[in-house]
Amino acid sequence: MFEVMTQLDGDRGGRTGVISTPHGQIKTPAFIPVGTKATVKGLLPEQLVAVGAQAVLANAFHLYLQPGAEIVDQAGGLGAFMGWLGPTFTDSGGFQVMSLGSGFKKVIEMTLDDSPVDDKATAGGRRRLSRVTEDGVDFASPLDGSKHRFTPEVSMAVQHQLGADIIFAFDELTTLRNTRPYQEAALARTSRWAVRCLTEHWRLTVERKDKPYQALFGVIQGAQYEDLRRQACQELAACRGPEGQTFDGYGIGGALEKSMIGTIVSWCAEVLPADKPRHLLGISEPEDLFTAVAAGADTFDCVSPSRVARNAAIYTAKGRYNITNARFRRDFNPLEENCDCLTCQNFTRAYLHHLFRAHELIANTLATIHNQRFTINLVDQMRQAIEQGSFDAFRDDWLAHWPR
Ligand SMILES: [Zn+2]
Repeated sequence: MFEVMTQLDGDRGGRTGVISTPHGQIKTPAFIPVGTKATVKGLLPEQLVAVGAQAVLANAFHLYLQPGAEIVDQAGGLGAFMGWLGPTFTDSGGFQVMSLGSGFKKVIEMTLDDSPVDDKATAGGRRRLSRVTEDGVDFASPLDGSKHRFTPEVSMAVQHQLGADIIFAFDELTTLRNTRPYQEAALARTSRWAVRCLTEHWRLTVERKDKPYQALFGVIQGAQYEDLRRQACQELAACRGPEGQTFDGYGIGGALEKSMIGTIVSWCAEVLPADKPRHLLGISEPEDLFTAVAAGADTFDCVSPSRVARNAAIYTAKGRYNITNARFRRDFNPLEENCDCLTCQNFTRAYLHHLFRAHELIANTLATIHNQRFTINLVDQMRQAIEQGSFDAFRDDWLAHWPR
């Protein structure tokens, strides 16, 4: 399923490769746009093709709640449902389910046992909506308050119905604020859940043998602790299904400080099998992408390029700016000189400025096209630089004009 093509010199993990799926190939490293609810907000599938997207990552939790995984299954799977012909990913839903535990979007806090939850660990005015047990996570739907339980088996069943080419094991996400004993307990639980995911995945693969093969990635947790990250990699690499099956790849997840991205990816790349792809969940800042690629991450996803576009923030090689700023009112240049995206080829800063000021729908679309193209193209250029043996020079040149 994965072939390594070119390895960075030195003892670094960075490489180029090709992931093969039933819906096509992904040349890595690659940035994968997020289409949480089976749409990359504001973009048609043909526009996704035009920005160079090789795959789309949707969210199992959101699609489970709405429209329901069985409807996506009936439609022929995620790609057919959303009119996207290329490869697809779904994440396990673990992050969203456990985020409900704190009310925070990015910071998740959980307790070690069944004792009452400490409300200081939740966002102001928010009610705790989820609870972790050995079996899984109980939560109340944020849509209608109905009660649900996500377990490794439920996550696998949902992701099989959604039918993405690459799916993720259900893991327990911790935060940097959790204590070391809690991190250890959560990691042990994640390993037990990984075995349950692999077992259920293979039961479903046999049961649904008329469907295209779905690759299952295990998810590495362990926060900022080197021994826990290495232990997680060893345990997941050793994990076996009913007939000796292994994970097809690995996701590197969980709480990580920006300054630790390269270090943590390097620990994982050293321990994980070299012939399996590694997906780093949730990064898109250029300096983070350079660091993660050099350390050996193959694919990335993040909502940021689209999310900031809808707030009128435009990525360029010289940093980010907000197009609603008054100085762009009569600026008839493209969003970024030399950008090959549809927006920059056809429209001006003055026009985008006007569209955002006037709250026109197409403002979101045009800004998203540019930011997605910017991010995808940056990672594509990293791939070409590795192939040409010029990654370090490309990175140094590129980051020399990136503001810090
Ligand atoms: Zn552009």
